[in-house]
Amino acid sequence: MIRVEQVKKSFGAVQAVRDVSFELAPGQVTGLLGPNGAGKSTTIRMIVGFFMPDEGRVLIDGIDTLANASAARSRIGYLPESAPLYPEMKVAEYLDFRGRLFCMPRTSRVAAIEKVIDRCRLGEMRRRRLAHLSKGYRQRVGLAAALLHDPPVLVLDEPTNGLDPGQIRETRELIRELSADKTTLVSSHILPEVEALCGRVIVIAGGKVRADGAIEELGRSAGERAVYVVQARLSRTNDEERFLKIMHNLPFVGEVSRAPEGRREGEWVEWCIWPKPGAPDLREAIATGATNAGFLLRELRSQSPSLERLFHSLVEQSTPAGGGAAA
Ligand code: ADP
Ligand code: MG
Repeated sequence: MIRVEQVKKSFGAVQAVRDVSFELAPGQVTGLLGPNGAGKSTTIRMIVGFFMPDEGRVLIDGIDTLANASAARSRIGYLPESAPLYPEMKVAEYLDFRGRLFCMPRTSRVAAIEKVIDRCRLGEMRRRRLAHLSKGYRQRVGLAAALLHDPPVLVLDEPTNGLDPGQIRETRELIRELSADKTTLVSSHILPEVEALCGRVIVIAGGKVRADGAIEELGRSAGERAVYVVQARLSRTNDEERFLKIMHNLPFVGEVSRAPEGRREGEWVEWCIWPKPGAPDLREAIATGATNAGFLLRELRSQSPSLERLFHSLVEQSTPAGGGAAA
């Protein structure tokens, strides 16, 4: 239903999207998960035809967004990251305006507006001005506008960002209902959001896809991949750098990062060391490497990471030495 083929997009020197490909089968809800600046919104804007990719292409229901932009766009309902609402307009008035933008004839427009007002539970708000709505209700208006022309594809960019916990719960519930008969892509920077809404997750960081699969599968692969947790004593100023370098130089070591909780007790710092695929047990090599370089260790264990940890490690892989998406 959505097919993204090796798209790339730069803004000047910033490579926002470096290489993204995926395909969404009809009826699925897929999460596009990644930290701020990962390239989620840029990817989404290429899907909805707002940006042209520098390279690659996007097909919606087999239609190339470049070759036939309006036909592709008519199949997509899009909720942008910050929906451009017109504060002076009333809810029903705004939906009517949006329907006219889509050139919906009057009779079907009126019926469609009633339907989305009902589905998004906006009945009591229909005569309220947008400026006077809570953020949660404004988001519902955005969803209603996205659904108005009854598109088979729904693309939602961080739909719960900035909402309070009650509004988040309501918005998720609504998205679950609305996506029942659609192909849906939801972006988010928080794993629990994707876990709550999506059957499948595409992890994106630094403008590239880092993982793609069913949530349970990813959880399983996280479970199979051991991580070494080490507490080392760092007493001099450049010890952190030195420790990182020594660990990186060991055979079969992939990434090395501070433990996600950033655990630190005085000079004792906790690290996560991720082995490369097919690595043997690395505990002895880590202990020897550290002590030969003069580091004291007080803990060294291997553990299976949670999905949360896997996500962090995937993201950290893409941001070496403080480099952002532009690196
Ligand atoms: P996300 O939605 O995952 O937070 P974005 O796709 O918005 O990420 O941004 C990815 C990178 O591209 C960031 O470094 C951001 O600053 C940059 N970027 C995004 N849009 C623009 C733009 N219109 N002009 C210049 N840089 C941009
Ligand atoms: Mg964004």
